[in-house]
Amino acid sequence: MKREELAPGIFHLQGGSNMGLVVREGRGLLIDAGLDEDAARRALRVAEQEEVQLEAVFLTHAHADHHGGAHFLQRRLGVPLYAPALEAAMMENPVMEPLFLFGGAAPIGELRQKFTMAPPCQIAQVVEGGPLEIGPFRIEAVPLPGHALNQMGVAVDNVLFCADAVFPAETLEKHKIIFCADMDAALETLEQLPAMPYARFAPGHGPAYAAGEEIAVACRANRERLEAIRERVFQALAEPADTAALVRAVADSFGLRLTTATAYFLARTTVLAALSSLERAGQVKVEMVENQLLWRRS
Ligand SMILES: [Zn+2]
Repeated sequence: MKREELAPGIFHLQGGSNMGLVVREGRGLLIDAGLDEDAARRALRVAEQEEVQLEAVFLTHAHADHHGGAHFLQRRLGVPLYAPALEAAMMENPVMEPLFLFGGAAPIGELRQKFTMAPPCQIAQVVEGGPLEIGPFRIEAVPLPGHALNQMGVAVDNVLFCADAVFPAETLEKHKIIFCADMDAALETLEQLPAMPYARFAPGHGPAYAAGEEIAVACRANRERLEAIRERVFQALAEPADTAALVRAVADSFGLRLTTATAYFLARTTVLAALSSLERAGQVKVEMVENQLLWRRS
């Protein structure tokens, strides 16, 4: 795990899914908990090296790769967990993540593995956006909705831990159809993020960005990708089509091969988010034809 000190006592722990560690008065605030026990143990080792006791863990959003390690930390240390509303409910009832991906039905086995279903944890305090004091930590919970419905970043001094609001170029290149629950909200978040008053932006994946051009370029690339996905969904609707045909058309248009059911259901969620955005804008509508749910331009 690579550790970068972004500001005095503010560490960005970079691994598969990044975490943050803030150190004040010999105590530590962890931001996100990693995918699993192994990831959480790596963060604990950094805390030990810094000679701090963990005071609390702030979980930014209910995706298993960010809160999967929280169960272990809670059992091992008894630390209180903080999380945004809605996301907190999913963390306490983790079947909700694969349940949503699978359209609300009992999820298939593949969706119940650790990348989409974390072990449960208990949230001590549900967080609203705004200033928050946790022991010696004065932080700000910053709403960054879109990638997850109620995702929240954490600002400490001049650093913003911005969760999965913005992905690095490698992720855009690899996944093409990046995960998004609410496309309009995600676009709005990406619009606002570069103007927020922080010196460094520490994402959930990839290295931290500097203020100014660096974060602006990254946000623009993410915005352009989401807009391209939405545009390709619209293009694919020259004729009415069902959701499955649209997932296929958009994946094909990016030269993307979806090789697992998990990858398929993640991509499908983003396509549905695009359709929802287009419907809200009055550009598409849903239509029932002979027991088929079809999307058509309106
Ligand atoms: Zn995520």
